[in-house]
Amino acid sequence: MTQPVYISASSIERIMSCGRRDDFERVQGWATPDANWDLDFGRRYHAGVAVVDQFIAKAGASPASWHQAGRLGLTVALDNVAASPLYQSTDKAKRPYTLARAIAWYAAAREEGKLPLEIGEAPAGNGPGLEVAWAVPLPEWPEVMAVGVADALPVRVGNANYILERKTSGSAPGESYYRKMALGPQVTLSTLAARTLWPELDIAGVLVEVCQTGVGYARWHRSVIDLDPDAVTEQAGWLSWWLRRHTEWVETLGVAPPNFASCMLCPFKPICTAPPRMRQALLKSAYVQTPQVPRDIVALARFKPGFSTLGAP
Ligand code: SF4
Repeated sequence: MTQPVYISASSIERIMSCGRRDDFERVQGWATPDANWDLDFGRRYHAGVAVVDQFIAKAGASPASWHQAGRLGLTVALDNVAASPLYQSTDKAKRPYTLARAIAWYAAAREEGKLPLEIGEAPAGNGPGLEVAWAVPLPEWPEVMAVGVADALPVRVGNANYILERKTSGSAPGESYYRKMALGPQVTLSTLAARTLWPELDIAGVLVEVCQTGVGYARWHRSVIDLDPDAVTEQAGWLSWWLRRHTEWVETLGVAPPNFASCMLCPFKPICTAPPRMRQALLKSAYVQTPQVPRDIVALARFKPGFSTLGAP
C-alpha cells in the first residue's frame, strides 16, 4: 500500500498564487529578511496567545491566573527573541516590543471580557481545543491528504460551533479581507476536515480574529464566516484540481510555472525580471536562505487529528 502524500493548506494557497514563488520560498527556502521577521512575528504571536488561552482553560479565570497566563504567554512569545529574525525587524509595527504589548494586551482584553472566547474540548479529548490538528483527503485527489492546525476547535459563537482562525496584520481588515479568507484553502479545507472527521460538532464555519499591531497599539477585529456545505465541497474540489494540474505541469516542464498576475506584492520581482542565468546569484546576494525542512513534515511530526498539539499525548 502506498503512503499518502501530505500537503499543508498554506502550501496549496502559495502554489495557487504562483508556482515559481512556491518554488523559491517553500522548495528552495529563500525569503527576504522582512518576510522572515513577518513570519516570525506571526508564529510567536500564535504561540503566545495559545498559551494564555490554554492556561486559563485549565486553571480557570481568576485575577491571579490571568496574571500568570499573561506572563507565560510573554515568556513563550519572546523566547530567544534576541537571536531571532524579529529582532532585526525595521517594521515599527512588528518589533519585539509590539509583540510583547499584543500578548500582554490580549491577556488583559480577555480578562476584561472584551475578547470573549468559549473554547470547547479538543475533538479527540485531550484538553482544551487549542492548536488542533486536522487532516482530510482532497476530494478530487484522495491519495493526497491536506493537513493543518486550527487555532481553536470548537469555539462557541451564539448557538453554533466554529473554527477559530487567527491572523496578524499591520492594517485593519475590511469586508474584502474576510471574503477572501472565506475562499482560501485554509478555511475551506479546515472546515471540510472538521465536518468530515467530527460531524457531531456541526461546524457552522470560521471565526476570524485579526490582531492589528501599530507603533502605539494592538487591537483586535473579528468576523464570523458561515460556510454552506455545498460551497465548501465545490471549493475543495477546485483546490484539488489546481494542485493536480500544478503537479502535472512541474513533472512535464521540469520547473514550477510562474503566474504573472500575482506579482504586485511579491518580493521576488527583481529576480523574475532578471534573466534566468542570473537568478540564483541575485537570490544569494539579497535574500536569506534557510535550510528547508518542509513545513508539511514539521506539522506531521506532531500530528494526530483531533488532538491539541499543545498538549499532545
Ligand atoms: S514576481 Fe511574479 S512570477 Fe515572480 S515569483 Fe513573484 S509572483 Fe511569481
